[in-house]
Amino acid sequence: MPLPLRATIWNEFLHEQTNEIVRAVYPDGIHAVIAEGLHQCLGDAVAVRTATLAEPEHGLSEAVLDQTDVLVWWGHIAHDRVEDVVVERVHRRVIEGMGLVVLHSGHGSKIFIKLMGTGCMIRWREAGERERLWIVNPGHPIVEGFEDEYFELPHEEMYGEMFDIPQPDELILISWFEGGEVFRSCCTFRRGKGKILYFRPGHETYPTYYDQNVRRVLANGVQWAAPTGSRFFGAARNIRDPLSAPVPRHS
Ligand code: ZN
Repeated sequence: MPLPLRATIWNEFLHEQTNEIVRAVYPDGIHAVIAEGLHQCLGDAVAVRTATLAEPEHGLSEAVLDQTDVLVWWGHIAHDRVEDVVVERVHRRVIEGMGLVVLHSGHGSKIFIKLMGTGCMIRWREAGERERLWIVNPGHPIVEGFEDEYFELPHEEMYGEMFDIPQPDELILISWFEGGEVFRSCCTFRRGKGKILYFRPGHETYPTYYDQNVRRVLANGVQWAAPTGSRFFGAARNIRDPLSAPVPRHS
């Protein structure tokens, strides 16, 4: 039997403890509901752990990251409280091949901005608008199993272009909102050996991570982002200077 995919779900876990509306939607935290969704979709094929800002090293020690195939990131009001040493550690692991799934307001996280190299800012409006997510890359594994050309969320925060990211490697979903804006909602990047997925929905006051389509995108996305290819990453290898090697003599 193949080993389960090891996913770590990181959540800053602050809104749920300070805002009654958010607590009512996510009483045990957004991370717990994302974990439940992965288990629902992937069963024994995934082993999930969670980590939060308040834990030592934000729950992302070397040992935890070494045992993580894909890291899922939800943050919003405390991006600046994430220690740089942890950001560096996550960055190095992505370059070595760990997958990273950045959700919703995670567009403003230190790790996403560092990996993108751009400002990563957006337009937004919090008005509970309908969001229609159009599948623009139907052959992509992240939309495996979807039957229709779009799916909808009845109430979400609006994110609009221009989204200040580099040109994505792949664009999979484009959102339309009732107010008329559009947004690149699901797109992929590669940095070093690592695969990065940005997926937009998930404002903390709406039950978005209970939605079956959102759960399917996340489960597919985590599987897509898992490490593939050679186990070896050779960028830091020290090799002997060939010019200093003794020249073989003909006898
Ligand atoms: Zn939001």
